[in-house]
Amino acid sequence: MRIEDLIEAAAGEPEAVRAIKDIKPDYTLGCPVWPGLAKVIEESGEFQRIAGKIMAVYGETDYFDGSDLVRPLEEELADIVAATAFMVQAAGLDSEFINNRAEQKLSQFIEWSNK
Ligand SMILES: [Mg+2]
Repeated sequence: MRIEDLIEAAAGEPEAVRAIKDIKPDYTLGCPVWPGLAKVIEESGEFQRIAGKIMAVYGETDYFDGSDLVRPLEEELADIVAATAFMVQAAGLDSEFINNRAEQKLSQFIEWSNK
């Protein structure tokens, strides 16, 4: 939810509007302003860390420390999916638009991959 939405919901209640304007958003899962935004960023960063490791070993999955990078990659992709789904729901975003856009993007990526 956006701060503007909270203020609109509190219309006619000056103390509530003042309290809303005093909110210092931290964008955590329970934050009233853009809930879950921080988690999407956090999980994206974790994905980038694993992707960077794969790139550092030239696309192999055996990392320098002996660990295999496939499961961690799968875990971080799943975490991004979960964080994104949470944010869409908690922030009241347009899930129909997002799902349609995701399907279009997937089709586009498949088409590009076949060129
Ligand atoms: Mg993670």
